[in-house]
Amino acid sequence: MDRRSPMSIPAPARSPRISPRCSPCSSPATARRFKDDVEALPRDIEKLIYTDLLPFDITGGPETREFLYRVADISCDYVEKTFDRGCKILDFHQPEQLKEVLDLEIPSDPLKLEQLLHDCRDALKYQVKTGHPRFMNQLSCGLEVISLGGEWLTAAANINMFTYEIAPVFILMEQTASLHAHFLHVSTPYACALHFMFTSLHSHYSLKGAAATMGLGTDNLVLVPVDAKGRMIPAELDRLIEEQKAKGNTPFFVCATAGTTVMGAFDPLHAVADVCDKHKLWFHVDAAWGGGVLLSKSTRHKMAGVERSQSITWNPHKLMGVLLQCSTVHFQEDGLLISCNSMCADYLFQQDKPYDVTYDTGDKVIQCGRHNDIFKFWLLWRSKGDSGFEKHIDHLFEMTAYLVEKLKAHSDKFELLNDEPECTNVCFWYVPFRLRTMKAGPERHKLLGEVQPILKGRMMTAGSLMIGYQPLDDHPNFFRNIISSQAVCRDDIDFMIEELDRLGYDL
Ligand SMILES: *Cc1c(COP(=O)(O)O)cnc(C)c1O
Repeated sequence: MDRRSPMSIPAPARSPRISPRCSPCSSPATARRFKDDVEALPRDIEKLIYTDLLPFDITGGPETREFLYRVADISCDYVEKTFDRGCKILDFHQPEQLKEVLDLEIPSDPLKLEQLLHDCRDALKYQVKTGHPRFMNQLSCGLEVISLGGEWLTAAANINMFTYEIAPVFILMEQTASLHAHFLHVSTPYACALHFMFTSLHSHYSLKGAAATMGLGTDNLVLVPVDAKGRMIPAELDRLIEEQKAKGNTPFFVCATAGTTVMGAFDPLHAVADVCDKHKLWFHVDAAWGGGVLLSKSTRHKMAGVERSQSITWNPHKLMGVLLQCSTVHFQEDGLLISCNSMCADYLFQQDKPYDVTYDTGDKVIQCGRHNDIFKFWLLWRSKGDSGFEKHIDHLFEMTAYLVEKLKAHSDKFELLNDEPECTNVCFWYVPFRLRTMKAGPERHKLLGEVQPILKGRMMTAGSLMIGYQPLDDHPNFFRNIISSQAVCRDDIDFMIEELDRLGYDL
């Protein structure tokens, strides 16, 4: 048989050699690969079922290892394809078509490992490659390989983050990362009676969700007008707070957004903080998207004033590229979470344990089971250091500046919504040939708004590019391009400009 064994391992020179059945994956050159065809699987593993693996068969160590290697191989193939600009971002199917090509049935009896490996491969086959350099569709783009390694390891450890007792290492890691990100230490009194919340018109929809979940109702969330760049207008905030007070209502909370979801605007934090101080309101900063700017000296000024907030949300899975999901919340005042959320469950949080029980952080949070999201974050930060993360952020902003410059250079084909974006969101309309000579104004915008979703459909069919679109306020549909992946380079932006014109010219 001259068929290449699936167990062959390309040495650095890529010459296949056979691995021992139970090869420890310790050598860095041990990049294992095998072909797509399942026939090539060695007979000894393909016919096995789960009971042949650990812990059901205690002699099943080698088989278990082999099975996991193969799943890892499938993942590695996917990673390579993700970064291959010659590969499509997606192979789009309608839901009904996809149901036909996928076998999603749960069988009554065990399936062979061979089938499960097939299933693993199929699961990725129709998946959108969010790490592809031309995927600009979401706030979380990119695939950081170190973070992926962290996530694999986390999955193997399968840890619930409630106590030091069961997650000693990861609890300490969480403390390290949060102390590192801790730049707040001033305590301000705040009003605690619940009634009215304030946030900008362009803030994230989760604020509405929070108002509803807390039982306030979405009507008790006041949306403050924004300026042309999408930033909250502090004088309007002050006016609206006064208005509620005059009606006898109790404002208690203001959320400023650092990096709005669509336009990437940074609300003026100092000015918002002044209003909060004046009225003694809780000042929260939603930096889920923009928080990463703090990691670079050239961008951190955008969040000046954040140190005056009582709380911040920050999602490292967005600008920082940590694998999904990794969302953090930071409070200025120590002990606040434990005093609010502690339920003192006797079976978890015994006070007479043989170590300092303040490390049992599980009682600080509202959920019980909590996934370990720290390791992939900590490992990525270790790999880059602060300086690497600064470069990471600077790269995203450099690519954004390059895109804006390109769009301006092709102003016949592209119309920017905001020609000085504050974050890596770039909002624009693509202008097809027939509309290029039309007079600017609402009529042209209306027609442009009809064109963008059709162009998006063409992108998905072509599989070459993905950019999201939406309307906003009075603006009809426009594209919002996000650069939050380290894979994006100038060539990808040049490609994007050409590809949009190739796909949309005749619309
Ligand atoms: C993504 C995002 C959120 C939501 O964060 P989740 O952790 O995904 O719930 C909130 N606010 C802003 C500005 C965001 O961009």
